[in-house]
Amino acid sequence: DVDVLTFGESMVSFRGEGLLTQGSRQTVRLAGAESNVAIGLARLGHTVAWAGRVGDDSFGRLVLRQLRAEGVDTRYAVVDTERPTGLMFVEERTADLVSVEYRRAGSAGSAVGKDEVTAALTASPRVLHVTGITPALSPSAAGAVEAAVGSASAAGVFVSLDVNFRSRLWNREQAREVLTPLAAHASVVIASDDELDLVASGDEDVAVAELLSRGVQQVAVKRGPLGATLHSREGRVDAPALAVTAIDPIGAGDAFTAGYLSGVLDGLDPAQCLVRGAATGAFAVSTRGDWEGAPTREELAVLERHTPGATV
Ligand code: ATP
Repeated sequence: DVDVLTFGESMVSFRGEGLLTQGSRQTVRLAGAESNVAIGLARLGHTVAWAGRVGDDSFGRLVLRQLRAEGVDTRYAVVDTERPTGLMFVEERTADLVSVEYRRAGSAGSAVGKDEVTAALTASPRVLHVTGITPALSPSAAGAVEAAVGSASAAGVFVSLDVNFRSRLWNREQAREVLTPLAAHASVVIASDDELDLVASGDEDVAVAELLSRGVQQVAVKRGPLGATLHSREGRVDAPALAVTAIDPIGAGDAFTAGYLSGVLDGLDPAQCLVRGAATGAFAVSTRGDWEGAPTREELAVLERHTPGATV
């Protein structure tokens, strides 16, 4: 048995300083929202399995090697001999502006299907974590998410859905059509404040009330440097962001989700789950890389005790 099962597309990212057209030197890394969450949870000592497809190429081997190195269980991962591993190219255009180019259409990861994720559910996870990225990848990936979420919620598994809207993959109307019905099966819906309209209607309070009335237990709203809020039938709790020097915002949301789910697994109350999410989110923004700076359990409180510039 595992604490958490997650699945989705993991890719290899190429990140350079300066412009690709000028031949910038690249750093090659594992990338993917669900695998970021998996690594964040594994660093905190939870048992996590990641399912999905990679190509039979160096990039697929990098993905699996990196996940295993971080202690993530990859036994349900499938090597697809017909499709390549997806790639993404991240260009730091200015200090604040990042542009991303994908080579993921027709990738192995986008061909994930119902069969492999249903097989992975035999790991009897306590938590199933999915994102709104996967259903945008292909009809089979959408079917996989629907099947997994449906059978996990029917079996009483705690289902976590991070809306994670990607405008490069679909538009808001397409996302709303798929994600609104999906959200009704989630135990927790995690969204940025500008994503709630993809799973419910109205302003935040109205949307949250609608989700809670449809059976969702908790709604977590991420607000970047303004912190986060957790809504439940008991009301709302807020956690401020930690005062850190932000150097790389990518991955903050996934790190937050890992911290929050770790709190759920530890049986913490909603306020403490949020505080843990804020801490892991702060680690992500103040370290380079999407997942590389994720804290271990021993490090969790480090940012709360130390002010910027301090020695650990
Ligand atoms: P991304 O898509 O870039 O991964 P997101 O929009 O999903 O991010 P954010 O709201 O940016 O998620 O970040 C998640 C959490 O991380 C926030 O709720 C906050 O607690 C923490 N966080 C984000 N930005 C900062 C920051 N500049 N300083 C401190 N904490 C931050």
